[in-house]
Amino acid sequence: MNTHNSCTDLREVAIELGDCCSCQGCIDLNPDVFEWDDVLDMPVVCRSKVTEEEIRDIMNCCPADCIVFVD
Ligand code: SF4
Repeated sequence: MNTHNSCTDLREVAIELGDCCSCQGCIDLNPDVFEWDDVLDMPVVCRSKVTEEEIRDIMNCCPADCIVFVD
C-alpha cells in the first residue's frame, strides 16, 4: 500500500521570504509552525515538519504564496 502523501505524513515546509509582505497571517494561523524573527523582521519556520492538513489553510491564504514544501 502506498501511504506517501497521505494527509498525516510529515513534510518539510519553508517560507520564500523574497515574496513575503510581512502580513503575519502565517503566524496568526499557525503559531506553532511560524514565528516572527525580530532580527530579520520577517516570519521564520520554527517547526519545519508538518502535515499538509495543518498548513493547508495558510498555503491557500498567504497573499504572496510564500509557504512552500521543500521535500
Ligand atoms: S502569510 Fe505569507 S506574506 Fe504573510 S507574513 Fe506569512 S509568509 Fe509573509
